[in-house]
Amino acid sequence: MNLTKAVEAKWNKTVAECSNEELYIALLEMTKELAHEKESNAGKKKVYYVSAEFLIGKLLSNNLINLGIYDEVKKTLEDAGKTLAEIEEIELEPSLGNGGLGRLAACFLDSMATLGMNGDGVGLNYHYGLFRQVFDWGKQKETPNPWITENSWLNKTEVCYPIDFGGMRVWSRMYDIDVCGYNNRTTKLHLFDIESVDERIVEDTIHFDKEDIMKNLTLFLYPDDSDEQGRLLRVYQQYFMVSNAAHLILDEAVAKGSNIYDLADYAVIQINDTHPSMIIPELIRQMGERGILMNDAIKIVSKVCAYTNHTILAEALEKWPMHFLEKAVPQLMPIIRELDNRIKEKVTDESTYIIKDGLVHMAHMDIHYGFSVNGVAYLHTEILKNTELNNFYKLYPKKFNNKTNGITFRRWFMECNPELSAYVTSLIGDDWKKDASKLEKLGKFVNDTEVLNNILAIKESKKEAAVQYLAKTQNLHLNKDSIFDIQVKRLHEYKRQQLNVLYVIHKYFEIKAGNIPSKPITVIFGAKAAPAYTIAKDIIHLILALQHVVNNDPHVRQHLNIYMVENYNVTLAEKLIPACDVSEQISLASKEASGTGNMKFMLNGAVTLGTMDGANVEIAELVGKDNIYTFGEDSQTVIDRYERGDYCSRDYYEADERLKRAVDFIVSDYVRRFGDDECLYRLYNELLNKDWFMTFPDFADYVETREKVYADYENREAWAKKMLVNISKAGFFSSDRTIAQYNKDIWKLK
Ligand SMILES: *Cc1c(COP(=O)(O)O)cnc(C)c1O
Repeated sequence: MNLTKAVEAKWNKTVAECSNEELYIALLEMTKELAHEKESNAGKKKVYYVSAEFLIGKLLSNNLINLGIYDEVKKTLEDAGKTLAEIEEIELEPSLGNGGLGRLAACFLDSMATLGMNGDGVGLNYHYGLFRQVFDWGKQKETPNPWITENSWLNKTEVCYPIDFGGMRVWSRMYDIDVCGYNNRTTKLHLFDIESVDERIVEDTIHFDKEDIMKNLTLFLYPDDSDEQGRLLRVYQQYFMVSNAAHLILDEAVAKGSNIYDLADYAVIQINDTHPSMIIPELIRQMGERGILMNDAIKIVSKVCAYTNHTILAEALEKWPMHFLEKAVPQLMPIIRELDNRIKEKVTDESTYIIKDGLVHMAHMDIHYGFSVNGVAYLHTEILKNTELNNFYKLYPKKFNNKTNGITFRRWFMECNPELSAYVTSLIGDDWKKDASKLEKLGKFVNDTEVLNNILAIKESKKEAAVQYLAKTQNLHLNKDSIFDIQVKRLHEYKRQQLNVLYVIHKYFEIKAGNIPSKPITVIFGAKAAPAYTIAKDIIHLILALQHVVNNDPHVRQHLNIYMVENYNVTLAEKLIPACDVSEQISLASKEASGTGNMKFMLNGAVTLGTMDGANVEIAELVGKDNIYTFGEDSQTVIDRYERGDYCSRDYYEADERLKRAVDFIVSDYVRRFGDDECLYRLYNELLNKDWFMTFPDFADYVETREKVYADYENREAWAKKMLVNISKAGFFSSDRTIAQYNKDIWKLK
């Protein structure tokens, strides 16, 4: 099948005669069919990657690449005067994830398919996703992000299960998205839904009746959890997800000949963070329905479930009040109590109990009853073992292991940067596409002036493309002849966008004082904040206010600009990352479990400015100190200071004139003219009186290091060498490597 024929059959027209919409639909249908025809691995044992989030991004280009027909389709379109880029604009991006955790799940599906593994994803079919971010009066507003249209990637299946909640039964239905591996087999993403969901209950923004479970269950990803009904709805969603997953897993295993006692030969379940943790008691419950004794069911489950920890932030480790579970899923409580009692009988360390003070600690259940616990970067796993989960590590040292995160190079290099990836191929061949470690072969060009110049030229072209895209889609007009310094990721205080902002204010003052940078600087932010996270929204508000102040200042605007792009998502990431010069990865050391944005930037030839946190530590190790800029206190210093509890931000503020000047500017007349006093003062007071993520102690080092980055940027050849080294060392961060390690150490599929 080719596009010309598909279009002919579908619309009875030539490609040139079709509108972009018609071409999109024809391409979607053709691609879906091709993907569906590909075989899947039908091996005995399967991994089920259960996750509340799959931030898959748009699928058209990705599927064309992985099916091996991208170039052919692109040419057919171009010959007819059409462009794939414009057709892509018609596809809606599903926002089925918050950020890194959901994107990781999507990269893992791509790698499992590419490696030809027998593995599926299981999640929920949120109709409106997370939310679409719009800026209104300088503030984030959340609106629904619909993506399921008549022509979507979903395939309706006949798989339906009855799911019981306290006093109510619903029927589910499974929808599948085919996940194409690169030149290989496909796997499936199973998204469960209920038919009775009613999109009409959503009012203007993202408000709806949170108690009408029949109508709201799969409307949004983690609806606002600032109130009790929102949190309870989350429990309903999680149980709905895992009960369906458990039915599917048992049905598939039994169909292949399992007697359930040997389930571990047929299935392994990767529990992505604590959202799917209820799958442990739910599987036990369903085994009971199939006639298995509880004692046996517990043993079986303990050989099947593996848990991935993604954070050490206490507020992100889920603990559900017992009365929530009693109301939503009363059938699980006797099982959870039994699981807890068994621990209380044999373990003396009370800190590891599952039920404490009326709360069910989901991670504790995972660790006691899973056979593997993994962190997502070297440093993170060490902190889990030695600090955060040390009590568990002492009980089960052998369960703990590290799996440093990765990204799929198909989307984050071949798709988003075809120019650079084609150039790399012209230099070293294309075996890096299946074995990313081969990128190291680029190392031999570090002194090749022609290669270095070509890499710089590609970066310029990607900056120009990003400038055009932002002008067209967001009405932002960036200076392409400036340094692109980018921080795009979820808005969270631990990620410290506020530290970046303090630098921008500092630089603004410096320029006003006549210290003109030799090259203009463009600082770009992109971030969604959780709807109920007030301080995060205040930081967005400050950035948007500064966008007015800085970009309109006649003495500053030709040297320094600051922008916040609206609705940061995978699509925008794919435009911005290839255009980046300086990658901001400045989380408070110990707090960012891994990061994956850092890897995408590195692969596309950006140089990292970061703290020794998460996977930055491994990046630094790989590229060496000449090819990364690190600053700030190390994780142990930070952990010790939290332990002592003696951090006083005001002391730093009083002691550093430049810091004081920057902080005070937040509530200066200049900013207040464009901002809201309540937001600005709240943020100012938060920093001055709390600064929980310790931006002030790192401020001076950050300023100094960032100045060094900009100074070094001037030597274009030396900078291009850093770019080249970063690209050549990025192979370790391919999710193909990560998934191969999961399989070798945890899943053990043949
Ligand atoms: C990769 C990615 C993230 C994760 O970024 P971090 O910098 O690791 O937090 C978040 N959102 C999107 C859209 C991404 O593509």
